[in-house]
Amino acid sequence: MTSPASIRASTRMPVLFVGHGSPMNAIEDNSWSRGFRSLGEALPMPRAILCISAHWYGRGLYLTADAQPKTIHDFGGFPQALYEMQYPASGSPDLARRVLTLLEKHEAGLRDDWGLDHGTWSVLYHLRPAADVPVVQLSLDVELTPHQHLTLGQALAPLRDEGVLVMGSGNITHNLGEAFRAMRTGVYQTPDWATQFDADIAKAVIQHDQAYLTQALSTELAERAHPTPDHYWPLLYAAGAGAPEDVITFPITGFDLGSLSMRAIRWG
Ligand code: ZN
Repeated sequence: MTSPASIRASTRMPVLFVGHGSPMNAIEDNSWSRGFRSLGEALPMPRAILCISAHWYGRGLYLTADAQPKTIHDFGGFPQALYEMQYPASGSPDLARRVLTLLEKHEAGLRDDWGLDHGTWSVLYHLRPAADVPVVQLSLDVELTPHQHLTLGQALAPLRDEGVLVMGSGNITHNLGEAFRAMRTGVYQTPDWATQFDADIAKAVIQHDQAYLTQALSTELAERAHPTPDHYWPLLYAAGAGAPEDVITFPITGFDLGSLSMRAIRWG
């Protein structure tokens, strides 16, 4: 007979970082949305998902604690169909409280005035189309250093043995000015700074070089790759929850709009 302990051990969840890119990936059938679908099909069934999205970015560390989080349409200038999208996954106040316990040194709080932003639902819409897994979001506190973000990610690692999928959602390169310029000019060539920054991060992830990951925004290329840190920081949570023994794979690679890295990373 299989003991509960061995069931837990055999279902240790992987950790994900996904490049969410344009909100349009939620409604378009393109190589990115198909990539999200394939990624979802290859995952073990989680009990719940904890998402760290680039788009919940502000002061303080918070968890969504609503039983039915609303779908937030936190963008402007897109087709009406995108504003009508709903991702009706339930929340998990139990998981939110569990994460509070794991982060007790960091004075996190519970909130019910956020919900699921597009960094979360535009990907989960493809990853879990049935919206049948409860979802909790953890915010990005702008006051914290990269090292502190990584430390928070490390504190989330025990969730992997509790059937929780920890997922960071951002982009490894994210310069909207450059992306809009490409859209205006129709020139979608990937610049060298984007190729190099993306490759340097991939190498550091493979080598489990957490020190490099916490300093990457201080490198010269980072001025172009991340004019603001919001889309980079979710990677630090995923990398923190990852372990040196995890097999690293990149289920999605490539660039959208020229310079936007869509690389996805799976630990374990
Ligand atoms: Zn975004």
